[in-house]
Amino acid sequence: MGTFVVNASNVATASDASLTNPAISSISPDGKKSFYLETFGCQMNAHDSEKVSGVLLGRGYRAVENPAQADLVLYNTCSIREKAAQKVFARLGDWKTVANGKIIGVLGCLAQQEGEEIFERAPWVSLVCGSASYRKLPELLAQLEAGGRRVTGLDLDTDETFETEITRRDNLIRAYITIIEGCDYSCSYCVVPHTRGPERSRASDAVLAEAQRLADAGYTEIQLLGQTVNSYRDPSTRKWRFVDLLRAVAAVQGIRRVRFTTSHPNDFNHEIVHAIDETPALCDHVHLPVQSGSDRVLRAMRRTYTREEYLQKIEWIRAAKRPISITSDIIVGFPGETEADFEDTLTLLDAVQYDTIFSFTYSPRPNTSAKDMPDAVPEEEKSKRLAALNERQRQIQIANNEKLVGATFEVLVDAHHAARGQWTGRSTSNRLINFTSTRENLLGEYVSVRVTRGGPNCIGGEHVL
Ligand code: SAM
Ligand code: SF4
Repeated sequence: MGTFVVNASNVATASDASLTNPAISSISPDGKKSFYLETFGCQMNAHDSEKVSGVLLGRGYRAVENPAQADLVLYNTCSIREKAAQKVFARLGDWKTVANGKIIGVLGCLAQQEGEEIFERAPWVSLVCGSASYRKLPELLAQLEAGGRRVTGLDLDTDETFETEITRRDNLIRAYITIIEGCDYSCSYCVVPHTRGPERSRASDAVLAEAQRLADAGYTEIQLLGQTVNSYRDPSTRKWRFVDLLRAVAAVQGIRRVRFTTSHPNDFNHEIVHAIDETPALCDHVHLPVQSGSDRVLRAMRRTYTREEYLQKIEWIRAAKRPISITSDIIVGFPGETEADFEDTLTLLDAVQYDTIFSFTYSPRPNTSAKDMPDAVPEEEKSKRLAALNERQRQIQIANNEKLVGATFEVLVDAHHAARGQWTGRSTSNRLINFTSTRENLLGEYVSVRVTRGGPNCIGGEHVL
């Protein structure tokens, strides 16, 4: 475990009135300081925000919905693509002239990536803290309370991020548990190893204890999280592999559904499919990002598998006793990607028949080896390929969802749309299902839904009573 860094070089002295932060001591009418937290990016970020909220609530802050009413305004950021980073700087720009003594803080991947540069670009920001340092937020805030103007928490090599005393759960249906942090792969396009640091797994007993606490609190669905969740290696003497942990979490009393994301194809093995087959609580869904269907591009991306190896793993999944839905991430327009390479990605879609894909145009990122690769694909061509990819996948989804008409799914209900008179939920295969029911108060219930119509992105049905 590494050491935590509080950047003391620019901590002001009490006599330097122009550098102090008056807002941190401004107390709201109820006697509590308030915070506003906005999250950008993936599920890991969403769950990190739950931990940050927990840390702040535990320290006596109260959450507010409107940033204008907050003493502390925090952005938990994403830097995976350039657009995500731009969005955060645009948000920060909103405060340029109206910060009014508020504490403005940047958390997460962009904080880790840009570090103190953020103070240069947005001098009204006073807190920059990467995801590995959230437990130290009280310490950083104390630095600000003591008159500090700018503090940073940018240590990466720590596993302290796993354990927080309180985690505020924003999602009342699905609870997240981080089992592995960081990433030891070095995909040439990806900032994650730089922003989240090396891979660190969480001890299995801590994971199981959290799963049991969640079950006791009424959660029935758990999602295990990690950038490469299936490369999990228990650091405790049990030395469990991912599949052992998966089976153990599924056996926790009260847990009915266990999901996991994101699996790296290289670490995806037959045993995971067996475990899903044998354990009803393990959801029949695998998210297995392929990124490209071309071996040439996969090599340049440093993905460590070939198209054929990937397709072999898809075959294992397809050979399971129960149907398992498969989803993926795909990048188009990687440097040097030719028309023929792109065609390989399209034929891969046909071969796999994904339930859904998350598709992106390649975005060059700082601190990645692909950033300066030659043969950049023009933006216009990237967009064209993205549209073609999405259209091909849309046709696949329409055809496959059509085949589901008449089937019955168990749905965990997570929303009600009063205006449409519809309920929404997910099947164990993670299919989004809208349905009608004559019953009320279905939120959080498991119900049977018969599919009455397909569609490209979700399916419709009716509650079977
Ligand atoms: N760890 C996961 C894996 O190995 O597949 C991916 C995590 S990443 C947060 C989510 C997705 O963002 C990736 O699967 C990839 O498709 C996409 N992505 C990452 N870097 C990108 C870049 N520079 N440009 C475009 N898309 C990118
Ligand atoms: Fe990024 Fe590759 Fe690690 Fe996934 S496996 S987080 S894409 S470096």
